[in-house]
Amino acid sequence: MAGEETLFCAFHPGTPTALRCNRCGRPICIRCAVQTPVGYRCRACVAGQQAVFFNARPLDYGLAALVATAIGLLAAPIVAALGFWVIFIGPLVGSLAAEIVHRLIGRRRGRWIWLVVSGGLVAGLAPFRLPLLLAFPLFLPRLLWDGIYLAMAISTVIGYLRFWR
Ligand SMILES: [Zn+2]
Ligand SMILES: [Zn+2]
Repeated sequence: MAGEETLFCAFHPGTPTALRCNRCGRPICIRCAVQTPVGYRCRACVAGQQAVFFNARPLDYGLAALVATAIGLLAAPIVAALGFWVIFIGPLVGSLAAEIVHRLIGRRRGRWIWLVVSGGLVAGLAPFRLPLLLAFPLFLPRLLWDGIYLAMAISTVIGYLRFWR
């Protein structure tokens, strides 16, 4: 280390420290330092990077919701007819919805896009299933397959849209 000058944290002026953010060079104390794969950074730099990483626009969320709901609506009658085979349709619908949304929004990334797409798939199923819920115990097996379909579709959506490749 060059120089033995005492640094004080840029965010806690009373706290001496030897660390500096390796991006902006601000002195930071251990409470402010965030360990990243490239070394210690201050929270401001980490937050700034995330803002750049997630670049989806508000309109993208609206588009994602619309498209996912439309796909959910299209899939609903198929799911209703299938029973056991939903275990194949679930991932298919999930990857279809994720891929189409991903392309339509110009491959921009949104922190909550996966949630909006999942919500759209649930919403697409709702008009077909809400009447069933009223006759609850009778249609329990039907709802079970719906649940499996949604779980598989949503986990596929999360795999696509949440953990970026
Ligand atoms: Zn910094
Ligand atoms: Zn600090």
